[in-house]
Formats: sequence, C-alpha cells, structure tokens
Amino acid sequence: MNAELIAVGTEMLLGQITNTNGAFLAKQLSELGIDSLNQQVVGDNPERLEAAIALAESRADMIFVLGGLGPTPDDLSKQTLAKHLGVALVEDAPAMAKLKAYAKQQHHEMTANNRLQAMYPAGATVLTNAVGLAVGAVLEQQGRTYVLLPGPPREFEPMVLNALVPLLLKSQGEGEVMVSRVLRFFGIGESQVVTELADLIAAQTNPTLATYIKPYEVTLRLTAKAKSEQAATALLDPLERAVQARLGEFFYGYGDNNSLAAEVVRALAREKVAVTAAESLTAGAFQAALADIPGVSAWFKGGFVTYANRTKAKFLQLDQSAIDRAGAVSEYTAKAMAEGALKQASADVAISFTGVAGPGPSDGIEAGTVWIGLAAKGQPAVAALHHFPGSRAAVRGRAVKAGLFTLLR
Ligand code: ATP
Ligand code: MG
Repeated sequence: MNAELIAVGTEMLLGQITNTNGAFLAKQLSELGIDSLNQQVVGDNPERLEAAIALAESRADMIFVLGGLGPTPDDLSKQTLAKHLGVALVEDAPAMAKLKAYAKQQHHEMTANNRLQAMYPAGATVLTNAVGLAVGAVLEQQGRTYVLLPGPPREFEPMVLNALVPLLLKSQGEGEVMVSRVLRFFGIGESQVVTELADLIAAQTNPTLATYIKPYEVTLRLTAKAKSEQAATALLDPLERAVQARLGEFFYGYGDNNSLAAEVVRALAREKVAVTAAESLTAGAFQAALADIPGVSAWFKGGFVTYANRTKAKFLQLDQSAIDRAGAVSEYTAKAMAEGALKQASADVAISFTGVAGPGPSDGIEAGTVWIGLAAKGQPAVAALHHFPGSRAAVRGRAVKAGLFTLLR
C-alpha cells in the first residue's frame, strides 16, 4: 500500500496556516504500515487540484484529499474528485437531516452549497463527522482508494481516528486485528519518556510504541496486531507492565479522548467528594477546566479567584497581615488559601494556586514558581512547590494540569 496526501487550501501556499492535517494523517498511516511516499499542497483551484490527483494516481494507490468540503465557493474538493472519476454526488440522509436541523436551529435557509456538505461521490463509504457538518468519504475505484476529509483540524482529527482508521484497518488486515491502547502521562516530557523507554522502542516490532505530545502532557500508544483481539491484548499487557514499571508515577489514565480533568471528575464522583478551588495566578482556569467536563456540577459548587492579598483575605476569611508577612507566593499562603476555600465553600477538598506566571520575576521570585496547596476535611493542609518552564501561558496551563494531577494522587 502506498499513499499520497493532497492538502487543499490557498492559505497553506501563502504560509498563513501549516498543514498539520497532513502531519497528523501521515503519522496515523505510518502506524498502520501504509507508506506515504509523496505529499502535495495545492490552492483552492479545481484545475490544479485535478492535476494533483492525476499526478498522485501515477504513483500511489491511496489518495487522500484534505480540506475543501465546506459550503463556501472555494470548497471544491468533492466536486473536483467526483468529476475526475466520472461519478455523481449523492446525498447522505443522516448528514442531510443534521444539516436541516442545524439550519432550523440557526434560523437559516439552506442553500445548494449547504447541501453539498451532506453529499458524497456515489459508491463511496461515508465517514461521519461527529463535530461538524461536512461528511468525508472513501471511494474505491479501479484498484485505487480515494479519501475525502474535511479541513478544520477539530473535525479532521476525530474523523481520521474514529471513522477512517477503523475502516482502513478492516480492509487492510486479512483476518488480523489491530488493537491500540493509549496511556496518558503528566509531569514528564516526551524526550524523557523516550529516554526511559529507549530499549523498548528500539526493540518494537509487534507491538509498536509511539509517543505523542498533548499540551503539557505525553501520551503513549501501544499497538498490537494479531489474529484476535484477545491475542493482541495478550501482546499489549506485558508491554504495558514494562512501561508502568518505569513511568507509573506519571501515569494517570487511558484513552485518546480522555483528559486529566475528566479523570478528576470521575474520581470525585467515585469517591463522592466535593471540590473547591482558590486561584491566584490561574485566575479561574482550573475551575474552567473542571467545568469543561459534563457532570461536574454534582461535585463542584464554586470557588474563588483571589489575585490580591486583600482579596485573598476578604474572600477566604484569612489574616491579611500573616499573608503579607509570608508573601503571596509562599507555602504558608498556599495552605491558608486551601484551608480558607475549604471552609468558605463547605467542600470536602480544596486546592489552591499561588505563583509567578511571568514573564519575569515578581517580588524577587522567579517566573514559573508556583505553590499548589491542598486541604481536605479533617487533615492538615499541605502544599507543594513547582517550577514550571515556559511562557506566561505555559506556566498557567501547567499549573492547572499539575493541580488536576495533584487531586488524582
Ligand atoms: P469549512 O467547512 O470550514 O470550510 P473545509 O472542509 O472546506 O471546511 P477548508 O475550507 O479547506 O476545509 O479549511 C477550513 C479551515 O481548516 C482552514 O481555514 C484552516 O484553518 C483549516 N485547515 C484546512 N486544511 C488544513 C490542513 N491541511 N492543516 C491544518 N489546518 C487546515
Ligand atoms: Mg472551506
């Protein structure tokens, strides 16, 4: 099998956006054992796209067209491919129903261009779009596979992972199944993961091992090929045990669509624990991360954003002179904030954040210095000191994730 990716979009030629979809798909294909030998980038121009498809046909048996499935006049991928292959565009009923419901909700009249989003080349298998409106498609013709995928990464990536990869796996492995397990880690960098696992990575054939970076996190995908799911699992289990023996202290959960916040909310529900937070440098970002997870409201009733010492003292009923003496960024203040929040919000557990987001030091304390406090009912508060690297945004983002990780421990 050999693949060619064609990314469509004038913005890419102008350097306004980067072809991250190409990189994302290429990585997935390489894991499936599909070689991608060439990639092309073309503008939103049907003649040049058709020429790109023809060139790809001369050297590849799987052709992926990325982008240009939307409703605007510059979205021409679907029409161009259908015309090139001499097939009609037909309607996908579920996608059309979704479009109609969306138009109704938005009080929009549907245009012919809108309808195009629910259409696919006749004879193709539809790839459903869980996030947006435009469907993708996989069409077999004369020994070649043509794949249409949407441009926006937030639609593209889930469609690749949840619709395209399973389909390719099915058509690829004659009687073989491929099983993947994704392990998630926090508090360790990718290069350190790769160093710790160097011998396992060097020895990999089946199962394989690949690292991915998420914001301030690393995920590890273990993939095994075997005659049955059970047999694949039996290959994965010892590899995971070897990984956990080395990196267990950084491990927090499984799954591509998982997150630290989701794990925290599951843990709160499991242990029936109500949480609150007092945030200084993160200014509500921790609470916002929790609120992203459906169902959190049973375990999170509210919290505090307390930037200035005076606000800390007032909202959390603390002794301001003691905070002034200890300093805003100190173990004392982190503990006092957590204890104050616990009491004022009548929660079971409280977390606090105080630190220097940067750029540059504050009151002689280095940027990236963050105290995270933790108080639980009936227990003395504790606080841990962190030194986070990176920009202001990175320090704040890392602090939020470190707080979530702290709660899981
Ligand atoms: P839409 O319905 O949004 O128009 P579309 O399927 O027609 O989606 P495009 O119009 O090609 O896709 O691209 C939409 C947006 O998706 C682009 O403005 C860009 O931000 C992003 N995008 C497109 N192609 C890529 C790519 N190859 N890599 C990363 N981002 C991309
Ligand atoms: Mg578009």
